Amino acid sequence: MTLRVAVVGSGPAGSSAAETLAKAGIETYLFERKLDNAKPCGGAIPLCMVSEFDLPPEIVDRQVRNMKMISPSNIEVDINLEKPGEYIGMCRREVLDGFMRDRAAKLGANLINGTVHKLEIPTVPEKSGNTAPYTLHYADHSDGNKVGTQKTLQVDLVIGADGANSRVAKAIKAGDYNYAIAFQERIRLPEDKMEYYQNLAEMYVGNDVSPDFYAWVFPKYDHVAVGTGTMRVNQAKIKQLQAGIRGPCGQTVGRGRNHQNRSAPDSRTSRPRRVVGRVALVGDAAGTVTKSSGEGIYFAAKSARMCAETIVEYSQNGSRIPTEEDLKVYLKRWDKKYGITYKVLDILQTVFYRSDATREAFVEMCADKDVQRLTFDSYLYKTVVPANPFVQMKITAKTIGSLLRGNALAP
Ligand SMILES: Cc1cc2nc3c(=O)[nH]c(=O)nc-3n(C[C@H](O)[C@H](O)[C@H](O)COP(=O)(O)OP(=O)(O)OC[C@H]3O[C@@H](n4cnc5c(N)ncnc54)[C@H](O)[C@@H]3O)c2cc1C
Repeated sequence: MTLRVAVVGSGPAGSSAAETLAKAGIETYLFERKLDNAKPCGGAIPLCMVSEFDLPPEIVDRQVRNMKMISPSNIEVDINLEKPGEYIGMCRREVLDGFMRDRAAKLGANLINGTVHKLEIPTVPEKSGNTAPYTLHYADHSDGNKVGTQKTLQVDLVIGADGANSRVAKAIKAGDYNYAIAFQERIRLPEDKMEYYQNLAEMYVGNDVSPDFYAWVFPKYDHVAVGTGTMRVNQAKIKQLQAGIRGPCGQTVGRGRNHQNRSAPDSRTSRPRRVVGRVALVGDAAGTVTKSSGEGIYFAAKSARMCAETIVEYSQNGSRIPTEEDLKVYLKRWDKKYGITYKVLDILQTVFYRSDATREAFVEMCADKDVQRLTFDSYLYKTVVPANPFVQMKITAKTIGSLLRGNALAP
């Protein structure tokens, strides 16, 4: 037999899964409803993603080496990446997604420009050794028609990589999760103003721009991406918060022309069930965005790659159909590798994004070189490098001192 796998969604998650499966010779179908999709996203990626996912230099618009953090009382802290060759990559999602999708297709994945609207699940229980196929019902847009032609496809395994509003997750009753709402505008700046953001990103914290997260100005090829995020309970306030970020950065952003304006849900905690039967969720569909930093691109691509590698291994390169238990090995590996990262970022969000006083403390802490090194090492390389005991003690004392002083500084 040859294993047939459908991957629904071709963001960073879906395309990396499809690439790994296709390379192993597995019959892979990659569904994408909108081939020119430009997901509203800051598009910041860690340095390690460039090498790990073999991204060519033209995918990265800007190599950011300087970060400015701005506190609620407008205290600014400049952070510079000092090691040669280190940077945060700034991408436009239509470019990144397009590249990763095309590469998966070149490696042998069957790319289908189609919207999956129903997943039919075999009625015989998985536990009885059932290997009946899953049926995907989709609208094929390959003729350029938005409505599309109704078609079906039968497969042995499904990977749901269809983002935070995943239909695949709904079909398998994966459960809901608490997510954040983010809003971003692309603002074109005059050349001299763009020069200021050459390799600089800004991060604003404060109740006026986000009650529980942060706002950003990220430089891209010919514009800046200006956005903010907040938890679902504050959804109604998102436009007012966005006005807050346009205010502080207004001096530099000026009256730049806004040429995109969209919001999108962003997953924040994982789904209660990420593998059900022979269906696995990856990326935002599974809920892999981290708290505190809101980072999701790398984790989407990585979770999908780990899922696909598990499928390749347990299907013996596509010669048998893996079971639910086999697929759950991916979750065990994922949780083992990144469980601690998610916990630490959750604690950071709870401690530092609680009030303007704690945000003042957060920005003050970021002025410390050891804190900067620790933070950037974990972000850029996705490894938690333990600091030596002296540095750890110093950081703990600084945290307490900053939290106490934050109350005095907060507006
Ligand atoms: C405003 C904002 C800013 C962000 N900034 C950053 C940042 O700077 N850095 C970072 O790391 N993360 C950021 N994130 C998070 C990041 O965007 C996500 O974590 C990431 O896109 C997840 O990738 P994914 O492949 O899982 O899902 P997605 O990127 O959402 O991809 C899902 C794909 O599936 C397709 N699809 C959906 N349903 C169907 C269907 N039924 N049939 C066929 N195709 C379908 C969609 O068209 C899409 O292409 C941000 C998020 C938001 C909302």
